[in-house]
Amino acid sequence: MRRREFMAMSAGLLALGAPLRSIARTSLGGGTLTTISDGTLALPLALPQDVPAAELAELSARFGLEPSATTPRPLNVTLWQSGDRTVLFDAGSGPAFVDTAGALYDNLDAVGVALEQVTDVVFTHAHPDHIWGIIDDFDEIAFPEAQLWIGQSEYDYWTDPATTDSLDETRKFFAVGAARRLEAIAGNLTTFADGDEVLPGITARMTPGHTPGHMSFLVSDGGQRALVLGDAATNGHLNFARPDWPSDSDQDREQAAETRARLFRDLAGEATMLIGYHLPGDGLGRVEAEGDGYRFVPL
Ligand SMILES: [Zn+2]
Repeated sequence: MRRREFMAMSAGLLALGAPLRSIARTSLGGGTLTTISDGTLALPLALPQDVPAAELAELSARFGLEPSATTPRPLNVTLWQSGDRTVLFDAGSGPAFVDTAGALYDNLDAVGVALEQVTDVVFTHAHPDHIWGIIDDFDEIAFPEAQLWIGQSEYDYWTDPATTDSLDETRKFFAVGAARRLEAIAGNLTTFADGDEVLPGITARMTPGHTPGHMSFLVSDGGQRALVLGDAATNGHLNFARPDWPSDSDQDREQAAETRARLFRDLAGEATMLIGYHLPGDGLGRVEAEGDGYRFVPL
């Protein structure tokens, strides 16, 4: 039995445990955008500190936010199919991160995409829920035919031996895990810079702060556009209402807030679709100005 057949079989057995299967699809020009769930992450909600208390109370009530409440955070991997390209933005969490995630391989199968058919995997950043899934249970690249792409500065940051020491205890394993995977895939990996057209119709936009080299991607086809946001915004409430407020999910909170504010200013009023890795409604929607801030409008 080939390894992949064994994997398919064991995945089928595991499916009895009912992995979350959430899939949303829309056309963009001549191509198809699909968001495919990798599962969820259960994280306690951390409300921002050092922000005006009255406004935080008002927004918390509006969005029903309870401090420290554990809410499942969706994991929306974007699949872009156009011409002879089958492109994944990020690779999910894989088998080694948490039990509630790692459903991507099964859910790709459910939409009729074999792992061997993926031509490219483009990474937004190297956090566990975005890059660990590039390596499967057999320590092999999960998408054996794919060319892999990551921003040069993100690559440099996580492969720098000094990075692990610079992070606090709770995040050290991010660095160890990223470095190990980037090393394992180095032979298939190409780096790019801010503004590069990574693949035809796919342009990189540096959106730093969540991680130092975080990238978002503008996908254009037939005059229509979508921005694959990655984790430049990680929730559909406070990140939009007050993009300038610090968010606990971000490594450099000040820089991430500046990035978000600039991004939404550029996108509000545009017809550009938005796809957020952790945003509700399968991550697909657009941004609209509201009051002094914005709101996320699911598709
Ligand atoms: Zn992240």
